[in-house]
Amino acid sequence: MSNVKVAVRVRPLSQKEKDKNAGVIVDVHGDNVAIINPKVDGIAEFADSREKVKHFTFDYCYDSTLDVTAAGYASQQLVFQDLGTEVLQAAFEGYNACVFAYGQTSTGKTHTMMGYPGEVGLIPRICEGLFSHVDDCVDRSASFRVDISYLEIYNERVRDLLCPADGKQTDKYTLKVREHPKDGPYVQDLSQHLVKDNSEIQMLLERGNDARTTAATYMHDHSSRSHAIVTVSFTQAKLEDDMPSEKVSKIHMVDLAGSERADPNFSPEYKGRLKEGANINKSLVTLGNVIKALAERSVLSSSSENLGSEQNLTGETTLVQGTTPRSSSLYVPYRDSVLTWLLKDSLGGNSKTLMIATVTSASVYYRESLSTLRYAQRAKSIVNQPKINEDSNVTLIRELRREIEQLRGMLMSA
Ligand code: ADP
Ligand code: MG
Repeated sequence: MSNVKVAVRVRPLSQKEKDKNAGVIVDVHGDNVAIINPKVDGIAEFADSREKVKHFTFDYCYDSTLDVTAAGYASQQLVFQDLGTEVLQAAFEGYNACVFAYGQTSTGKTHTMMGYPGEVGLIPRICEGLFSHVDDCVDRSASFRVDISYLEIYNERVRDLLCPADGKQTDKYTLKVREHPKDGPYVQDLSQHLVKDNSEIQMLLERGNDARTTAATYMHDHSSRSHAIVTVSFTQAKLEDDMPSEKVSKIHMVDLAGSERADPNFSPEYKGRLKEGANINKSLVTLGNVIKALAERSVLSSSSENLGSEQNLTGETTLVQGTTPRSSSLYVPYRDSVLTWLLKDSLGGNSKTLMIATVTSASVYYRESLSTLRYAQRAKSIVNQPKINEDSNVTLIRELRREIEQLRGMLMSA
């Protein structure tokens, strides 16, 4: 059992925000983030300072608002050192892993996940890390295989970013999600690319990124409305105890649509700018419902005498009022959207999962940032059941052999 780990990354004010005379309202201290309500003046005037400042604790907090030379500045390298290393470690041990970025549009999801030339993000670094591991492996009997796919979900339709279909642009969104009884959900006919080295995988990432960018130029708000998923399948085969052992890890790396898409009424600015209905994103709304259901399930399953657990669910006393986890149903609506169906294993299932919540430090987006922090707080209580993905026969033979050795030892000493 392992909880979803949650990181928060705070980006500096953009020029646009500075032009709006925005102040900085998000403050990072160690693993804590404080957000200040800009509409509430003077803490002293308030009997209850929680009205003004809200505190959250996460597994990792990254402050990119500092000067780049300052100690503690959250660079792409620092984020990779923590989160990328966790993902790689899980994959080397044979676990599935998932890392996804959640946040309002333009808060740094793509910056964090994919990055840009010269400042590459987690996805290219994790891919590079896989091949460094392969190159460093001293065990000559070991062999490795890396396959990659890259897809996009737009309006609940799936498009292959590495093998665009021929014909008109709209025909490209045609792939179907299916569910294998043992291996779980997958996208039928999604192209899988066998890669032999780092440069090859980086080229494929670029190809997928280009396909995304092209779509963004002719579809309004495309990048804020679409979800992108890079999936790497990492297979390690070697002789262990004289037996062939094969471990297969699936790594999902996800750049989600802008979180404002989950609630058309949330920001008047977005509501006014977008066409009716165009801003509601079914996958994102369902992701919220799935996370809520899983968080409630974990509260229910934690012992009933643990009365403080409802507080852990939200991390904020203000939110606790009105939440009634004990009476909630255990149904988790994975199948209600393409995104949650595909990520079923990553959310409450067989995977080690990391969420990165991205927020701006700007006062003008207080409500949006607070909403993201609350969402992230809730995701922390999701419990997954990761297991090493190894052929069960091999595991059984290995266990039986150990048992035989033990019995032999007992016979000898009798
Ligand atoms: P999103 O994918 O969430 O819509 P982007 O990743 O495109 O947002 O980021 C929006 C802008 O903010 C980009 O110009 C990006 O370079 C900048 N940015 C994002 N995160 C950071 C950061 N941590 N530090 C500095 N600039 C950032
Ligand atoms: Mg983006």
